[in-house]
Amino acid sequence: MKWKTVSIVINGTLPLVNFGVRYFISIDGTETIHDIIRGMPVYKKIKQNVIDHPEAHVVINMTVNTLNYECVEQVVRDWYGYARGLTFQFHTPFSHDDRLWLPYGNLRDRTIDKMLRLKEDYPDFIANTSKQLNLFRDWKWTVNCPKWFFVNLDASGRTKQSCVISGTDENGVSPICERCGIGCYAGAYSGLFLSDTEWFRMFKVARRAVPFKNKHVSW
Ligand code: SF4
Repeated sequence: MKWKTVSIVINGTLPLVNFGVRYFISIDGTETIHDIIRGMPVYKKIKQNVIDHPEAHVVINMTVNTLNYECVEQVVRDWYGYARGLTFQFHTPFSHDDRLWLPYGNLRDRTIDKMLRLKEDYPDFIANTSKQLNLFRDWKWTVNCPKWFFVNLDASGRTKQSCVISGTDENGVSPICERCGIGCYAGAYSGLFLSDTEWFRMFKVARRAVPFKNKHVSW
């Protein structure tokens, strides 16, 4: 089978090897917040890895939750000069008492409003479409989630059930779909069912030349 596009979601702590894939590196906030969420001081290492491998196609993926929703703008600024693009998504819980989930309502809506403004300020960097971001205001789109659209493999090549954040065991714990904030599926929904032509802008974002000015991180 010939793959159209292969993306690898990583934590960015290992050196990047350029073999024609797109890396999505998970960054969950500013240095302090990212390291608190990850439970160890890895942020500096990730940034140095990205700087050391400008040939690799790196997109930052920020998963927004109750700990980091206030720093979305700072994350955009922190990575604008280092990565090709940035995508936002929202934390998707596996249990109803997961405190990282940012509930539907005012706070979440205001965060989405801020993302939409940031898109205007950084049109060559933020890859989400407006329709995609607006889907995250409620659960309605998840009823028809196009989970068939992607083939998701774990690090051993086994197929994940039923979507990218699930495990490989069909009987394993499942994410709560009606609280889903996964960017790629909301994006596919938006393109398939909402005629979201803004996706074509992605090609521009993907080709963005990054001004890698410094080989070493200055803090
Ligand atoms: S968690 Fe989200 S992406 Fe996964 S199947 Fe449910 S709605 Fe779709």
